[in-house]
Amino acid sequence: MNDSKVKGRLQDADVRVTNFEEVEFGYNDEEALQEASRCLQCVNPRCMKGCPVNIMIPEFIKGIKEGDLKKAYEVISRSSSLPAVCGRVCPQEKQCESMCVKGIKGEAISIGSLERYVADQAIINQFNSVVPAEKVGKKVAIVGSGPAGLTCAGDLAKAGYDVTIYEVLHKAGGVLTYGIPEFRLPKSIVQKEVDSLKKLGVEIKCDVPIGNALTIADLQQQYDAVFLGTGAGLPKFMGIPGEDANQVFSANEVLTRINLMGGYQEEAKTPIKKGKTAYVIGGGNVAMDAVRSLKRLGVDAHIMYRRSLEELPARKMEVEHAVDEGIVFDILKNPVEILTDDKNNVVGMKVVNMILGEAGEDGRRGVTEDPDSLHTVDCDMVIMALGTSPNHGALKDSDIALSDKGLIVVEGTKTSLDSVFAGGDAVTGAATVILAMEAGKKAAKEIMESLS
Ligand code: FAD
Ligand code: SF4
Ligand code: SF4
Repeated sequence: MNDSKVKGRLQDADVRVTNFEEVEFGYNDEEALQEASRCLQCVNPRCMKGCPVNIMIPEFIKGIKEGDLKKAYEVISRSSSLPAVCGRVCPQEKQCESMCVKGIKGEAISIGSLERYVADQAIINQFNSVVPAEKVGKKVAIVGSGPAGLTCAGDLAKAGYDVTIYEVLHKAGGVLTYGIPEFRLPKSIVQKEVDSLKKLGVEIKCDVPIGNALTIADLQQQYDAVFLGTGAGLPKFMGIPGEDANQVFSANEVLTRINLMGGYQEEAKTPIKKGKTAYVIGGGNVAMDAVRSLKRLGVDAHIMYRRSLEELPARKMEVEHAVDEGIVFDILKNPVEILTDDKNNVVGMKVVNMILGEAGEDGRRGVTEDPDSLHTVDCDMVIMALGTSPNHGALKDSDIALSDKGLIVVEGTKTSLDSVFAGGDAVTGAATVILAMEAGKKAAKEIMESLS
């Protein structure tokens, strides 16, 4: 029995750092069939326990094995409205694939790559997933068009509800559009998913800041229910001297400018003044996305992370891709001051080395500064990728209950306000696409129950 997975093909590292095209090519028909054939079609499929939206994994893989991709797509669509996205960006190695029985003695089935294959084939062949039910005569407003809002909208529209999404940015998709770079998630794929929602009758109103143009109270009056999927887009900073210098950005800003506004092009309305050497501070997926984007702009791009490589919170695969692309990892280091010239432009950083300590209760090893290690590094750009928290502009003038950490408090998905529901990063803090989708699904169900 062959226990090795069919490896996906990638663009060569030295070529891909010169473009923003997708790094992974995705399985072709032959590779998908070969990988699907490894699946044991377990009667009690452990893999499904690892999928937050409970996709019938063996059933869709069976569809691939039998050459019935339409059936495979229908099976996935019953549980997920964004399969082409999840197949690409879900942390599968920690979810469905981590539970696959084949992983006990060999390599787990590449469930994510198979899901992506089916979803891409569905786009190419224009399979129609679901026909909406008859109209039920109820209206729901969704605030935010990220995966939580899109999923909630999709499930409600399929059930015959009139759904309007309000989005503050000029394009729908949330982090899928403005955060995750093209080379991991092509924007045409996100647009196709958004278009399929429109086909279900969902109306999307962009450039509408809720809390400003309209308040939650207005939406409560105009709609039967409201769902808040406003995400966690507020970046954190370190609070060190020099952080207000000209070339210090949050990773979110750099990624938004590159992904949404084409800011890397000289003719862009808000171009990025890119430097020669950039340090991205942090070690998560957002840091990897920022540093790899900068590398593609021709910048000498470094990660500076205060723990060791083993502790990097980013997906292993993304770290491997970053290493192959020539990203420099300055690990066990932390900046303590950003140095500037007389025009407040970044010229370098004062940095200390860090020493790893024992693991704390959360299993992560603590770090302390090495007092004799203060040194300087030269750079002309510093990017902070230290995590984000919810930006509650939408909640202005509402007395919705928030936790000590500023997260929207929910029971199920119901907030403290009448007929207002919430889910995704605005409730959990920065998490994952699939968890936001799960919350959107749950909210749709609870909204329908409350209105029936
Ligand atoms: P969001 O996607 O943040 O969407 C919220 C939307 O609400 C936004 O479009 C915002 O503009 C809009 N909004 C906010 N306030 C208002 C307002 N007042 N009025 C109207 N609209 C408003 N997760 C993964 O699973 N895999 C990955 O590989 C991955 N990579 C990531 C890379 C980056 C750079 C980032 C930033 C995150 C990444 N994540 C990843 C996390 C994932 O994208 C988020 O957990 C997910 O998008 C959260 O979904 P959401 O719908 O709750 O919020
Ligand atoms: Fe796995 Fe994510 Fe697909 Fe679920 S949605 S099967 S967790 S890749
Ligand atoms: Fe197939 Fe693995 Fe799921 Fe079993 S656990 S059905 S082998 S994907």
